[in-house]
Amino acid sequence: MILQQRIPLYNFFIPITLALLVSTSLFFAISEKINIGFVAAILFATGVIFFIFRRIQLDIFFKHHSELDVMEGKVNMLKDSIEEKEKILRALPYERQNLTSLFKASQNLIELIDQEDIFNFLIDVLEDLFPKADTILLFDFNKEKDNLSLIRSLKRKDSVVEEKSGGALDKWVLRHNSSLLVEDITKDYRFDHTAITAYHDRKAQSFIVSPLSIEHRLMGIVRIESRRALIFSLDDLRLLRNICDLAVVVLERANLFNSAQNLAIKDSLTSLFVKDYFFKRLSQEYKRILSKKADLGIIMLDIDDFKKINDSHGHVVGDFILSRLAGILKKNAGGGGNVIARFGGEEFIILVVECGKEKVIDIAEKIRKSVEEAGLLFRRERIDFTVSAGVVSYPDDAEDMLGLIDKADKRLYKAKEKGKNRVCFSG
Ligand code: GH3
Ligand code: MG
Ligand code: MG
Repeated sequence: MILQQRIPLYNFFIPITLALLVSTSLFFAISEKINIGFVAAILFATGVIFFIFRRIQLDIFFKHHSELDVMEGKVNMLKDSIEEKEKILRALPYERQNLTSLFKASQNLIELIDQEDIFNFLIDVLEDLFPKADTILLFDFNKEKDNLSLIRSLKRKDSVVEEKSGGALDKWVLRHNSSLLVEDITKDYRFDHTAITAYHDRKAQSFIVSPLSIEHRLMGIVRIESRRALIFSLDDLRLLRNICDLAVVVLERANLFNSAQNLAIKDSLTSLFVKDYFFKRLSQEYKRILSKKADLGIIMLDIDDFKKINDSHGHVVGDFILSRLAGILKKNAGGGGNVIARFGGEEFIILVVECGKEKVIDIAEKIRKSVEEAGLLFRRERIDFTVSAGVVSYPDDAEDMLGLIDKADKRLYKAKEKGKNRVCFSG
């Protein structure tokens, strides 16, 4: 901004007075009314007065000029600060809305303790917060395998996500453990846009990507895309990072909660449930089937001659056999609401839900055969082992749960008496 300087009137007054003095003196000198020497003295005095006047005038001019420069600088700074404040004011409603959403999200997030619920919630929140996004992807990071796997995706437009294990942008975020804003992939020198699958397949042009990480420990990646360039800003990136940081704390808490719960209900050697938990689930299941009139089966298993195995190969081999058997049990009877538990030292119990007696016998026989065939390879030596099982089912064999367990135990020992490595389901 340039300030206009007004020329003061006194600037004209002195030169005019001097000019009048000189011209009158000259007039009187020419008309010989005054002495020429006197005129010369007047002219000299006039010159001196004019010189002094100019000096004073120049000093004033320069002083005013530098004051003007300072003022001009101040005005410019004020203008810049006003523009900056206007920008902040314009962004305020957006920031306020984001803060409200963040607050609401945090309140709902901290209530969640299930990992699946947290992932679902995260996708919903991001969908609300980034209405301009075309695709939102959530990847899980497996540290042991050092890979990403797609666990949730939200696609607003009809598009396919082929990068089930992440793309170049996600890997960049993994490597730097830092969030990434790509305003226009075709103009971003860091990436070769022709090699970006999202651009290639879905014409995605702008991205914000954030890690789900806590103290340098990566748990996943969130990537948000738009088909248009310049859709996301640094503020959007910051908001995404805030949400991710919040989610990761809740995820960590859920993991800790699950491991604490597992410690209480799972056996550390076999990762199967403990006896107490089995009884808890059994009574819940019993109540359920009473109202539903459904079937239920129980298989009780015991390793044959386990003492001999321990004695001849050592307890370490015995432990390996226990976990090998646990794997076989999970493979043949796991899932579908069934509960597999370590009942005692080398004794196991399986609750088979909504299943008729024939099917339960079938499962027990499959387990027996798998164990017989499996064996354990230890230091290049194959160690064979077998199991015996007692099978019961509700309502055929007993009317209540304790009666059922008692009968299963009796049938197990009947199987032992009959020569082991067999399934007993009657008597
Ligand atoms: P049977 O065929 O009649 O069942 O004979 P068995 O030798 O399997 O039965 P017994 O009850 O005499 O022996 C069970 C053995 O299981 C005794 C115990 O040392 C061993 N055992 C119990 N728990 C563990 C464990 O956690 N690890 C190991 N290695 N051995 C265990
Ligand atoms: Mg035994
Ligand atoms: Mg036993």
